[in-house]
Amino acid sequence: MHALQYFRQAWSSAHHATSFHIARSLYLSARINILSALWGSIVILWLPADLILLPLDVCERVVVFRVLFGLVLLIIFNISRRSATLKSALQTLYLLILSINLFFICVMWALNLPGQNISIPYGYYLLPVAHIALLSIFPLTIKEAGTLVLITLIASATPFCGIFLIPHSQSSYWFLLMVATAIMMIQLSKLHLMMVMHRQAALDPLTSIYNRGQFLTLAQRVFERCKKDNSPFAIMLIDIDKFKQVNDTWGHSAGDNVLQAFSEFIQNHLRATNLFGRYGGEEFVICIPYTSPEYISLIAERLLNGLAELDITISPLGENINVTASIGISYSEPGDTLFSLIERADVGLYRCKNSGRNCYKIEPLSHSTSEINVIGQVR
Ligand code: GH3
Ligand code: MG
Ligand code: MG
Repeated sequence: MHALQYFRQAWSSAHHATSFHIARSLYLSARINILSALWGSIVILWLPADLILLPLDVCERVVVFRVLFGLVLLIIFNISRRSATLKSALQTLYLLILSINLFFICVMWALNLPGQNISIPYGYYLLPVAHIALLSIFPLTIKEAGTLVLITLIASATPFCGIFLIPHSQSSYWFLLMVATAIMMIQLSKLHLMMVMHRQAALDPLTSIYNRGQFLTLAQRVFERCKKDNSPFAIMLIDIDKFKQVNDTWGHSAGDNVLQAFSEFIQNHLRATNLFGRYGGEEFVICIPYTSPEYISLIAERLLNGLAELDITISPLGENINVTASIGISYSEPGDTLFSLIERADVGLYRCKNSGRNCYKIEPLSHSTSEINVIGQVR
């Protein structure tokens, strides 16, 4: 990976793939969930320690803050379970860190009220360090991690009641900064590791497009969204014609060349809202939301016409070869599921193969009106 690309991806999630956004939002939400449940339990379970260590009037205030903070964490616990996007997962994380720090400020205020001459239990001084250390469980970009660390650093330096709250001295503030830097590096390496693992799990190694599993996961989400909005949704199954002959004539690595060039060609003809994956072998799948059947036919025609003009150079022979493909299409109708749509597109593909290949076919829910479409003409 280029150093510049690595830096961009480390800096902001704007440079991450949509599929990685989804994977990370699920991961973040699960960890926010655990953290809010764990932190909420500790906050309440610590009450007896406050009763023993603090004078009664101070303790009353601290108990009120603890109960309020426990309730806020309960709300965050519930919100995080519903975070469906990366944006909402990050917002919940910011809310969690803000409330943790607000609790800290409130408790320090209660312990430092003018006229209160009590010694603050040492555990409270360590809270900002704990807050920053806790963030190490999240894979975050520099921008996200920096914002969260900044919230904690500002909270730790809040001037209140005429004094600087903890850390009391410059040296402990430097210590906090050093811990924050180390934690940010852990978060970044977690993010990088997750990205590498995601790439391996979600992308096809030969063509670098989505593999079948990842395609189905993403297409299911798009399908549900379209169903909710009553928007059109189509599935296109594309199979390279007589691909076995390519392997048999030119060898397996020439076949691999063709698969790469073919997927790159299709990818270049799609919109950002389309999902494209390798369904298996020399079969590819496209999910096309928000598009009318007429336009889908146009896309299929454009793909087949473009393919007819595509010369694929096979290395190391340097020869140019040409392939054709067959396309089965299904269009979402009431009662459809993603799998019924894929099955229908497969029926359409099968009909294309039976009628001589190099054509597309939109397979309707009722088979009676089926038509085979050879490029430019309807049979
Ligand atoms: P049809 O027009 O009916 O689709 O015929 P076909 O030859 O394309 O289909 P068939 O299913 O008979 O053969 C598909 C071939 O694709 C067989 C398999 O060896 C080859 N294949 C599958 N995956 C790969 C791959 O990753 N690389 C290469 N080089 N070949 C592959
Ligand atoms: Mg084939
Ligand atoms: Mg096939």
